[in-house]
Amino acid sequence: MARKVLVLGEVRDGSLRNVSFEAIAAAKTVAEGGEVVGVLIGDAVSALGTELYQYGADKVIAVEDEKLKNYTPDGYSQALLAVLDSEKPEGLILGHTAMGKDLAPKIAAKLGSGLISDAIAVEAAGGNLVFTRPIYSGKAFEKKFITDGLIFATIRPNNIAPLEKNEAASGTVAAVTVEIKDLRTIVKEVVRKASEGVDLSEAKVVIAGGRGVKSADGFEPLKELAKVLGGAVGASRGACDADYCDYSLQIGQTGKVVTPDLYIACGISGAIQHLAGMSNSKVIVAINKDPEANIFKVADYGIVGDLFEVVPLLTEEFKKLKI
Ligand code: FAD
Repeated sequence: MARKVLVLGEVRDGSLRNVSFEAIAAAKTVAEGGEVVGVLIGDAVSALGTELYQYGADKVIAVEDEKLKNYTPDGYSQALLAVLDSEKPEGLILGHTAMGKDLAPKIAAKLGSGLISDAIAVEAAGGNLVFTRPIYSGKAFEKKFITDGLIFATIRPNNIAPLEKNEAASGTVAAVTVEIKDLRTIVKEVVRKASEGVDLSEAKVVIAGGRGVKSADGFEPLKELAKVLGGAVGASRGACDADYCDYSLQIGQTGKVVTPDLYIACGISGAIQHLAGMSNSKVIVAINKDPEANIFKVADYGIVGDLFEVVPLLTEEFKKLKI
């Protein structure tokens, strides 16, 4: 059954986040040959429409207003609800990002619809669209399908491959005017707290440090390795609690959930709450002095050793490969 499916293009610092392209790929499956519509919300965002076309959108809509320059749940939900009202899609896909996690339940509640959150795969099987999502902190997976109403899901970054980019694709961006009113939240300034460089939630490579790094300076070799591999630095809560790094780097049950291609855990014991945020990474490498450390149970490759010796050696070797 062909469907019209909307995808929210998530903009950060003037660029589309990768998860927007992954959402288009998921939407293509949901659309089953129907139309995928990219939606851009922001201040001056319509120029980003071309990239949505290049990743497979059939149509792009932009709601632009200076009140939408920064994300607010009120502003974005007004804009998205207005687009949903005019487009009347059968499906809606958002990224399972900080924004998606905040916005999706609000939209679902307003529409009285269901929501499949944090999906890592979607397939058309046996006449149903089946979404897969991790449960019990990633220890099991459940299959979900929606039998009626809006097919509404958020997808976890880095799990659904985007379609191949077609540089030649382009199209017009339809401007939709929405009167944004009664904002209860106004963002006056955005102060960036997280580390510069690659966004941790979307990074293909994550180098994470735990209490074993022993100090804020102990993160330096990890930053160096992350730089060489084009990755991001993350941390266990142990490292954050010890004030070695900012909480924005925390990975785990009460931190960020990451699924990079490569996760290198340095001086992290592998507590269950940490594993909840990284155990679905594609390849896990653990470096720990303790051969009995729990992290080795989920690791594909384990190095028993002192991280202050092992990490610089890895950095030197990767430098030689000129990645
Ligand atoms: P430790 O457990 O102290 O481990 C340090 C490791 O470093 C050890 O294995 C040691 O052998 C190794 N080491 C030491 N020196 C070196 C060296 N030179 N070279 C190599 N290895 C070395 N934790 C999270 O991470 N994320 C969460 O989201 C999270 N949420 C939580 C929520 C709740 C409700 C609770 C109760 C806890 C939560 N925790 C979370 C905390 C979690 O239980 C652990 O306390 C924490 O993950 C431990 O961090 P760590 O592995 O860095 O420290």
